[in-house]
Order: sequence, then structure tokens, then C-alpha cells
Amino acid sequence: MILLEEAYKLIMDSAFELNHEKVEIGKVFNRILAEDIISDIDMPPFDKSAMDGYACRLEDIKNELEVIEIIPAGKPPQKSISKNLCSKIMTGAMLPQGADCVIMVEHTEITPDKKVRFVKETTNKNIAYKSEDIKIGDVVLKKGTLIKPQHIAVLASVGCVNSLVFRQARVGIISTGNEIVEPKYKPGLSQIRNSNAYQLIAQVEKMGAIPKYFGITRDDEQASYEIIEKGLEGTDVLLLTGGISMGDFDFIPEILDKLKVRQLFQKLAVKPGKPTIFGIRDKKFVFGLPGNPVSSFNIFELLTKPFIYKMMGYDYKPLNIKMPLGKTYKRKKSDRKSFIPVKIKNDLVFPLEYHGSAHINALSDADGLISVPIGKTILNKGDLIDVRQI
Ligand code: AMP
Ligand code: MG
Repeated sequence: MILLEEAYKLIMDSAFELNHEKVEIGKVFNRILAEDIISDIDMPPFDKSAMDGYACRLEDIKNELEVIEIIPAGKPPQKSISKNLCSKIMTGAMLPQGADCVIMVEHTEITPDKKVRFVKETTNKNIAYKSEDIKIGDVVLKKGTLIKPQHIAVLASVGCVNSLVFRQARVGIISTGNEIVEPKYKPGLSQIRNSNAYQLIAQVEKMGAIPKYFGITRDDEQASYEIIEKGLEGTDVLLLTGGISMGDFDFIPEILDKLKVRQLFQKLAVKPGKPTIFGIRDKKFVFGLPGNPVSSFNIFELLTKPFIYKMMGYDYKPLNIKMPLGKTYKRKKSDRKSFIPVKIKNDLVFPLEYHGSAHINALSDADGLISVPIGKTILNKGDLIDVRQI
């Protein structure tokens, strides 16, 4: 049995980065930048009014001001401001020469002879200054950024309509087991619906990689050999679930040997998730994930996800938040690092009712996972623990 930390290191050390491709802005969401993005403009590009109001000189705000121009957004001002003059200005419009503040329209009144009077004691300047956010030539996004909607806005602002990103990993998925049936069928006696494949497809899609589902294989050496051989073609990473523990029909390790997939480990000191394989053949990688759905979720989260992200140029660091435990947690054995689904309530962490690695709906309500280290059988109420978001 290998420790999670050792397994993580072995896996991450084996990853190599995929190639790059140019992708247009409308399709770049959830991809990972393979280049730094540099701004071609200052932002804001000019001194800009942050309010609807009157652009004037701060030293004149105690006086009545004459309006000399109306400046809408998108039209450069024609007149400059001097003593006791102002221009009516809209949010986003360019500040006229000579003005050093904008008084908000809500803070003014119009006198009978159509002058503007400021009715408050003081004002903010209400100006967004040229280049205060971004300077021309600034790196606005770094290589390795996982592109979220806020990054798309930045790309658009600096005119980056085609970005260089990492190629999406192609991830094959195969379920194994005589008892496994596709979800559309009502399971017969001793059958189980295939939840792993669909969970994994969603996981892979969520990461911005490309899933390729090969179906279910029976626990039959020849059939499994053929489908795994096929799965290794045209994919970068192959995920198998089930068939790797100590049962009479758990053939996967032997088949991987026959296919010259070098297995770096076959057992992990993690609960749930002990029967886990990581294998390499040339530039292809195989994860043999445990059959039980909570275990396969867990191992995907702990090992597969960081690995695939690394191949796609992203350094995945899950969000861990330290919070006090709301209820004491005990376990009998402590030979493996265990992961438990938890719910956060009133700034406290509560382990959810969880019956073990087949109890997939325990995860439905979970905000995160907490871990119990090897050698530890109790976590006390009030202990500060890391909650890993899922
Ligand atoms: P195995 O590792 O093949 O012995 O499977 C362990 C447990 O996980 C068994 O109870 C299987 O029925 C179950 N299992 C295996 N594959 C799947 C799957 N694709 N979806 C749901 N449960 C599964
Ligand atoms: Mg099986």
C-alpha cells in the first residue's frame, strides 16, 4: 500500500504538458492559457466620469456654475472648463480639459437662471483616471490561468480575440463488471446501475477536457483486453472503474500487464479508494479507479483531476478552508487516510451520514471533504480542520 502523498508525487512527476492551440474568445471559456496576455491599451483609455453629473473645477463648487456643453459617453468633449463653468457629463464620458472633478447630479439643483448649484459640503472627484487599472504593455493574465467568465471580460477588454491555450486532454472512460447495467435499465437481481461512467464524464467535462465513453465490459479477460486496447488509442488518459481489487474476476491488473502498461502502484492507503492503479504506456496514462462510486469520486478528486489539469497546463490547488468541527468524529481503524463528506452549517463543519464507499447520495448534500490522517481515530468537536471544497 502506497501513501496518498507518494502516489500524488509519482503521478504528478509523470505528467507532461499537452500542445497548444489558438482558440477564439467565444470558445475559450474553461480552457487554460498557454501564453501571457498583454494589454494593447490603457484602461481606462482616458480620464472618465464615474458618475452622471457636472464636470467642473473643485475650487468652484461653492459658486453657481454655467453649463457650456453636454457630454454623452462616446463623444469627445468640445469645450474646456474654466472658472465657474461646467459641462453636463454622463457616466463613462471623457472628462473635458480643465475639469478636475464631477459633482453628482443628485447633489445639485438648478437655479432660476439655469445655473448649477452644488448643495452638499464636499464631493469625491468621481473620475476614473486614464490607465489606473491597466497600462499598455501590462501582463493582464498569466500563462496557466484557467479561464473563467471574469477572465473572458479581461481578454475582450485588451482585444485578445484569439488566445493560445493548452490542448484539451482526451479522456477515455470504461466501466467494468458483470453486474453493471446502463442507467436506463431497471437493474435485475444482483445488478447495479452504472453511475461511475456518467460521474466521470461530468468530471472530465467540468474540467474542460474531452470525455470519450467506451461502455461497460464484462469481467472477461478477452473482452476487457480488447476494449482497453481500443481505449488506449486516441486518448491521452484512460479511466477504468472496478475490476482491480482481490476478487476472482478482478482481471484489470493482469490485462494492463499484458498490454505493457507499467503499473506504478495498485493499492493506496486511502479510504475510500484502496484499489487504485496508476499506469503508464509510452505517453499514455491509465487510472484504474475503484468500483464503488464514492471511492471513484474520491480518487478522481485527489489524484486524477490534478493530473489531467497538469497535462493541460493548470496547477490545480483545491480550496481548503479551516473551520471548527461541529461534532466529534470517531473511527475504529486508522491504517488509511480517510475522507468524509461534510456539510457546513453556521460556520461549523458536520460530517454527513455516510455508510461507506457505495453510499453515493451522501455526497449530494456535501459542501466538501475532510480528511482523517493515518494513525488518528478521533477528531474532536471544536478542532480546526481543513474542508476541501468539492
Ligand atoms: P469492484 O471493484 O469491481 O469489485 O467493484 C466494487 C463495487 O463497486 C461493487 O459493489 C460494484 O458493483 C460497484 N461498481 C463497480 N462498477 C460500478 C459502476 N460503474 N457504477 C456503480 N457501481 C459500480
Ligand atoms: Mg467488479
